[in-house]
Amino acid sequence: MTPGTYLQKRRIAADLSIMDVAAMVHTNPRLGGIDKVAWIDRIEKDIAALSPDVIATLADAFRFSRTILLQLITIRSFGPDAVDPEPRICIICGCSQNDACVDPAADTGCAWSDRCADLCTACIGKDLPHAA
Ligand SMILES: [Zn+2]
Ligand SMILES: [Zn+2]
Repeated sequence: MTPGTYLQKRRIAADLSIMDVAAMVHTNPRLGGIDKVAWIDRIEKDIAALSPDVIATLADAFRFSRTILLQLITIRSFGPDAVDPEPRICIICGCSQNDACVDPAADTGCAWSDRCADLCTACIGKDLPHAA
């Protein structure tokens, strides 16, 4: 999973559109609404750089694990062997050990599904999201 895809999954899991996030974040230099939407889109497509400033800005808008994000950035730069063990991330919602979601059936933190290696119990039965 790329850092941009990870952030996109966490944004969607938080039930926020790109427009919602654009309305929440403050950028320096200040960008207009349309520019902010384009900027977030470029982040999710792994085109815009993820500087510590950018990561902090996004962390104010929705929940994700900075540890996981930094591991994904490291893997993207240096290959899969750069982080051992590789972070385990739910392929649907992007949750992880560091950032579990609530399993609605059990009303507790989610766990790893025994049906699929990279699927959390809260996402069993959900379709894979289409890249949007
Ligand atoms: Zn999940
Ligand atoms: Zn989960």
